[in-house]
Amino acid sequence: MVEYAWSCGGCGAACHRPTWAIVGSEDRPGILAAVAEGLVYVRCRSCGTATDIDLPVVVVRPRHPFEVLFAFPDSYIGREDEPPEYARLMGEVYAASGAVLSGWHLWIPRVLLPVALARDVEADIDDIEKACGELVELGPALVERYRTFLTLGANGKEERAVAEALHQLWSVEPDDLPEFLATHSELASLTAMRAVQAEFAAGPPPGESEEPLRNRLDLVQALHEGEAPHLAASRYLAAVGRFGAQLQAQLQTKLDQLSSIGPYDTNPAIVERLREALALARAMGMADLEIALSADLIGRLLTAGDPRLTDEAVQLGTRALSLGPDAEQRLILLTNLADAFVERPTGDRTKNWGDRVPASHGGGRIAGSLRRPQALGNRPHEPRVLA
Ligand SMILES: [Zn+2]
Repeated sequence: MVEYAWSCGGCGAACHRPTWAIVGSEDRPGILAAVAEGLVYVRCRSCGTATDIDLPVVVVRPRHPFEVLFAFPDSYIGREDEPPEYARLMGEVYAASGAVLSGWHLWIPRVLLPVALARDVEADIDDIEKACGELVELGPALVERYRTFLTLGANGKEERAVAEALHQLWSVEPDDLPEFLATHSELASLTAMRAVQAEFAAGPPPGESEEPLRNRLDLVQALHEGEAPHLAASRYLAAVGRFGAQLQAQLQTKLDQLSSIGPYDTNPAIVERLREALALARAMGMADLEIALSADLIGRLLTAGDPRLTDEAVQLGTRALSLGPDAEQRLILLTNLADAFVERPTGDRTKNWGDRVPASHGGGRIAGSLRRPQALGNRPHEPRVLA
């Protein structure tokens, strides 16, 4: 609860009363079933004039299709930035629930909250006209706002499905791909086209090929133009296979070139070649090779005695340790890391570097996935869209 203070527009009295900042459906079913008073507006105790509450409120309904409703006051409309209250309130929600809510988050004008709580919003999104027809008594202005809310929800529903399917595409087994494409028709949508175009425009992570992104773009384009899923799948797999073979050949060349170098050779050209081989091994999800090359490279970086290389050695070692090296490799890595921390020119040596361990290596299982999947965004609608 927060203490809400306002000045009454009817009699000018200075009013205040507690209002909800976060409402959970499980502990406060009464509030959610209640009418708009207290949820949308408050009344002056002297003259009874109603005033809209100019604060946001979060409604949390675990396991509901719309798990979080962030209800914002009209004063937010037109704001370009994400209101700081959103992050603060969601922080409190997560802290209280002890878990990340993975469901759908919807933003809604606070004035519409009682409507959304009273109705089956999912059904309304699927038939917006019918929903609006049933709500005429609210008056045209509120019905139009509810229509906007539902339209944004409908767009968000497709965007969400597309984002999930594209995320899964990185790790679909080749044999399962035709079936996967046939059952994920959202990948043929315009929304999917836009998503892969944006992915391609954003480019691959530094040092990685744009080929996997191009293959995804080609695949979605073919589906969008109506190609049968099994044909699109086989063309995609062929492209992915060619790319994998190319990487394999490049890697083999590099390894051949590296096979004859001496153990203490710290020639910059050799070090660079090792870095390239390492990047290829990483891109191909070959963890064992990546660990071995990392151990070799770390040794050379430290031997070179250039303090600028030490941070790189620390990063390589930390990542290699996260890949599950065997006991012997682990010992080598830890020994080298200990050396690196002694030589390290910057940073706090006593700092626990557990927090430096990178996210677990999720190299795709499909030969050409070759990239770690990116975290799914759960981008809320911005209030200005609802203006
Ligand atoms: Zn008053």
